[in-house]
Amino acid sequence: MMDLSFDVIAFDADDTLWHNETRFVVAQDKFKQLMSSYHSAELIEQKLYETEIRNLQYFGYGVKGFALSVIETAIELTDGQVRGREIQAIIDVAKGMLKAPVQIFEHVEEVIAELSKSYELMIITKGDLFEQETRIARSGLVNYFTHVEIVSAKTRDTYKALLAKHSVDARRFLMVGNSPRSDILPVVAIGGRAVYIPCHNTWAHEIVINQDGGQEGYFELEHIGLLPALLERLSSN
Ligand SMILES: [Mg+2]
Repeated sequence: MMDLSFDVIAFDADDTLWHNETRFVVAQDKFKQLMSSYHSAELIEQKLYETEIRNLQYFGYGVKGFALSVIETAIELTDGQVRGREIQAIIDVAKGMLKAPVQIFEHVEEVIAELSKSYELMIITKGDLFEQETRIARSGLVNYFTHVEIVSAKTRDTYKALLAKHSVDARRFLMVGNSPRSDILPVVAIGGRAVYIPCHNTWAHEIVINQDGGQEGYFELEHIGLLPALLERLSSN
């Protein structure tokens, strides 16, 4: 194996450093319950997913856009008969999601603290600016990171622009994340390296089928606690 060492390690935030999708799954369950007198759980889930995907172009990612999609789905599923009280219940669930404490994954704090001694660390996350800023601030981890980048999407062009902005050579850049679509494939495509850490709860939209196909340039770990050992192995080979 070739010698691989990095100047900058960037981390995705949601479902890589802390729980995110879990909150959406819990909120969806509440919504299914709320709508249970109108339709089956399967149909509600399917309609909601379709609405969310359709609305990404308007609202982007985040709790506020999710809440609007849930309300729109409720209107559609009830043929316009949904009650104000039910809409209020949806809004209350969204507020609860935004107020909930940030739940950091196991191993994250010690790994980030250790790596920050030898590497420049970044957060690259997509979503709503206000929501993400609040969560990053509440995580208690912000001081370990040299840069925090909140972007609306994570494409090849996004990564190219970020590397140029911070004068980072793609070959010495490592991205760590749970989403093949957002964290792994675009980085590998521009000549960077990536570490894929699957998360039990990953939104269906972020999963790319046949992602692998013999693609090189990324590594897969079971959890973030294994990252320092991987880095050591890569640089000493
Ligand atoms: Mg993520």
